[in-house]
Amino acid sequence: MDKKKIVILGSTGSIGTQALEVVATRPELFEVKALTGWHNARLLVAQARQFLPQTVVVGDGSRYSEVAEQLKDLPIRVLAGEEALCEVAAAADVDLVLAAIVGFAGLRPVLAALEQGTAVALANKETLVVAGDLVMEAARRKNVPLIPVDSEHSAIFQCLQGEKGGVEKIVLTASGGPFFGRKTNFLVNVKRDHALQHPNWSMGEKITIDSATLMNKGLEMIEARWLFDLRPDQIEVVVHQQSVIHSVVQFVDGSLKAQMGLPDMKVPIQFALTYPDRVASAFPRFNFKDYPKLTFDRPDLKTFRNLVLATDALEKGGNSPCVLNAANEEAVHAFLRNKIGFLEMTEVIEEVMAEVPFLDHPTLEDYDASDRNARALAQKAIVRKSN
Ligand code: NAD
Ligand code: MG
Repeated sequence: MDKKKIVILGSTGSIGTQALEVVATRPELFEVKALTGWHNARLLVAQARQFLPQTVVVGDGSRYSEVAEQLKDLPIRVLAGEEALCEVAAAADVDLVLAAIVGFAGLRPVLAALEQGTAVALANKETLVVAGDLVMEAARRKNVPLIPVDSEHSAIFQCLQGEKGGVEKIVLTASGGPFFGRKTNFLVNVKRDHALQHPNWSMGEKITIDSATLMNKGLEMIEARWLFDLRPDQIEVVVHQQSVIHSVVQFVDGSLKAQMGLPDMKVPIQFALTYPDRVASAFPRFNFKDYPKLTFDRPDLKTFRNLVLATDALEKGGNSPCVLNAANEEAVHAFLRNKIGFLEMTEVIEEVMAEVPFLDHPTLEDYDASDRNARALAQKAIVRKSN
C-alpha cells in the first residue's frame, strides 16, 4: 500500500504532537510532506529533523531565520507567514491535510486544501464555527471528505458509518470541565491557572479555557450542525463527567448508538488519519470495571451562560457564530493574560454579539470583516473592564 502523504498544520500543538506520535508508531502508513508551527521554533525544528518533511512553515515570521538556520543541513524548504500555510495546505500530491491550528487562523488554509481537492482531517473546530457554510460547500463541490477529529464528532462520525441517514438527533457529551457544580459566586474569583486544570483531557490553552466555560460545547454544537447537516433542535448536550461515552446518535426508530473509549485524543486522531481504514493500535484500553458508575447531568445554563450565547448564535446563523467566535477568542486571550475575570469573558461576548450588525448570507470577505469588527469591539470592552 502506498503511504498516505500528509500535511500537519499546527504540528507543534497538542493535537499536532499527538498526531505525530501516531505517525511515529506507524511509519509504514504515512509520509509527512509538510509541518507548520507558530512560534515554538525549537519543537518545530526537532519535528522536522525527525520526520523530514519537504516543507516547514513558521507562521510567525520573526522565528523564520532561527528555524531556517537550524535546518540548513537538510533538504527542507523553510517558509514563513500566513500565505505559506495556504500554499502547503493546497500543495499537489498531498492525500490529507490535518487542520490542527487553533482559532480563526485555521480557516483559510482549510479552504485552500478543500479547493485543491484534498481531504481534510479537521481538529480546528473554529473553522466550521466561523464559516461552516463555505467550508461544507467547498468540500461538497470538490467531493472531498471532511473527517472530524474532535472526539465528539469523531464519535458521531463513527456511529454513522454504514448508516443511510435516519438520524433523529445527536447527543454531545460534555465533561463539565473543572468547575462542574460550581456557581457564579465561585467562578467570579477563578484565575487562569485553576481554569487550566482540566479533569480528563490535556489540551491547548484556548480549548482548555473553552472547556471550563462550556463555550467549547457551544462551538461543538455549531461544528456538529455543519458536519452532520442538522437543525439546532436535533443537537442536545449532556454532561457526562467521566468522558468515556464520546457522543451518541439517536435514530428515527429510537435506537441509540454511542461510541466509547478512554479520553485519549490519539484514538480519534488515528481514525481520522487512517480513514476509511481502522488500524490496530497499542493505546491503553478501556475497562468497564474501572468505571462502576457513569453519570449524566443537565448542563447548568444559568451559571455557564456561554453555552446559551452559543446556542443563540447557532439558531440565528449568518455571521453570528463568526462574531461569537471572534469575541470569545479575544476574551479567552485576555483571561489568559489576567486582564479580565472568568465571568467577564461571557460579558464581553454578549456585548460584542449585540453590537456587530447581523448578516444573513456572508461571503468570505464578510466573515473576515465581521471577525475584525468583533475583535476590535471585544478589545475595547476588555480595556474598559481591565481598568
Ligand atoms: P494548541 O494551542 O496546542 O496548538 C495550536 C497549534 O496551532 C500550534 O501548532 C500553534 O503553533 C499553531 N498556531 C497557533 N496560532 C496560529 C496562527 N495564528 N497561525 C498559524 N498557526 C497557529 O491547540 P490544540 O489544543 O492542539 O487545538 C488545536 C485545534 O484542535 C483547536 O481548534 C481545538 O479546538 C481543536 N481540538 C483540540 C483538542 C485537544 O485535545 N487539544 C480536542 C478537540 C479539538
Ligand atoms: Mg471535543
